[in-house]
Formats: sequence, C-alpha cells, structure tokens
Amino acid sequence: MNDYLVKAMAYGGFVRVYAVNATDTVSQAQKRHDTWNTASAALGRSLIGGLLLGSTVKGEDTITVRVEGDGPGGTIIVTSNGRGEVKGYIQNPYVSLPLNEQGKIDVRGAVGTKGMLSVTKDLGLKEPFSGQVPIVSGELGADFTYYLAVSEQVPSSVGVSVLVDTDDSIKTAGGFMLQMMPGASEEVATALEERLQYLPNISTMLDEGKTPEEILDFIFADESVVVLDKIPVQFKCDCSKERFAAGLISLGAQEIQNIIDEDHGAEAVCSFCGNKYYFTDKELAELKQEATETN
Ligand SMILES: [Zn+2]
Repeated sequence: MNDYLVKAMAYGGFVRVYAVNATDTVSQAQKRHDTWNTASAALGRSLIGGLLLGSTVKGEDTITVRVEGDGPGGTIIVTSNGRGEVKGYIQNPYVSLPLNEQGKIDVRGAVGTKGMLSVTKDLGLKEPFSGQVPIVSGELGADFTYYLAVSEQVPSSVGVSVLVDTDDSIKTAGGFMLQMMPGASEEVATALEERLQYLPNISTMLDEGKTPEEILDFIFADESVVVLDKIPVQFKCDCSKERFAAGLISLGAQEIQNIIDEDHGAEAVCSFCGNKYYFTDKELAELKQEATETN
C-alpha cells in the first residue's frame, strides 16, 4: 500500500491533522486523462484536496469539488468519498506553461485567479450541503484553506503538491490538512503557523522517502502526534455500462432511434476516468425498447 491517508491529532485533540501520499492516485489520473505537466499538477492538487476533504465524511458519503477558474485549464471536477476513493478530471488536459517566477510549476496560470471554488457534500440527507468561495490564489492549497475558513468556519491549513517528472509522469503527490478544533489556544495556532512557514513541499518530502506519518512528525516537531486511522486511497471511478445504458434510456426512444440511424452504434466516454463503453445497434434497439416501455 503506497497511497494512504493518515488521520491524527495533536495538542491533546485541539488540532486535527491529515496527511496523504497520493502518488499512484494522481499518476492514474495523469495517465487516464493524458494530462500535460501544468494540467497534471492542477488536477493532482485538486484530487489531493478532494481526498483530504473526503476523509472527513463517512464511507459512502461523497464530496464534490468544483474549481471553476478563468485559466486555460478550465473547470476541474473531483469527487471523493469516505473510503479514500477519488475520481476527477480537468476540462482541458493539454496545458503546459512555463515555470513561474519561483521556478515552480505554474498551477495558478492553469487554474486562473478569478472564479469560484465550490464543495458539495452528499451526506445521504435530503439536501446536500454546499459551500462556495471565490478563488483567492489559484494555487489551490490556499484556496482550500480559504474555503474551510469561510464556508465551514474551521481555521485550517491545507497544503497540496505534485512533483511532475521531466517525462511528464508523476514523481510524487501528496498533501496535508490541519484543523484547529474549538478551544484551541492562540499559542498553538501561532506555533503551528511558524512551523508551516518552514515546511518543504509535501511532494519534495515524499520524494525524499518520507511517509505521511513522518511528515506529521516533522510538522509537529517535539509535540506528540496520535494516529487515529490509516486508510488506503486510490483513483476509482464508479461508472459502468449499465449506468450509461440508463442514461441512454433516459434520452427517450426517438433519440435512441436517431443515434441508430445516424451513428450506427454509440460510444460513451466517462469524463471522470476516460473508460469507453460501446453500444451496438442491437443493444441500442434493446434500450429503445426499454425506453418505450418505461414511458
Ligand atoms: Zn468512469
């Protein structure tokens, strides 16, 4: 198990903390969507953010993150659940920008600096919870931090980072999330802020061979960290041919007949994972029959 997320606490429970190694997960996404380096980092950071937020909900419950900026990458959509499964895509995977002034991959350039970050939590209740904030940075870590502070009123710090290799493959990817619980003292907040200033990128620490647990130990220095849970994480899509068939049926009999007449068979591509599903004319005729019966 290379990719996993650790949930822990420190300062006697006043600080909740999460760290994740998502290298294989982001690598899967990169290969499935054939993203170019800047798009890989933007999508990867979003996937890591999705995993971190997703780790706060229970099993089947889901979290969907939408990053809608004005950059060339277009919209990024990520859905995760409490079991450590995440899927996602970027509207334009073919973004490769020059490095920024700090010599880092220019995620802000791909995402943009104007737009919205929204999070929808489907917790199995009647109405999903939804929060939305303007994009404040475009680098995404600061945007997730801002979202948590404003929309969920949890003082937090989120770091997400992806190291892209020269051949465009993903070298490492991971992140952390710190959350101050009600009653946490000002001293604790200040101490952590100071530590975080000197924190190297998580992807760099992973590249040095550090585990998520070791990253937490590094952040908290002399303070003890109590690990509460450790869950495997992975890129996983829940699409299926049946699901696409249901989508076709919902188009209605006439529309299905049009597809048969004009296209001779249909190919459906899942935008989240890139899997392709092919329907022959015979299968379409059966779906048309079902559509007729259900109407
Ligand atoms: Zn899929």
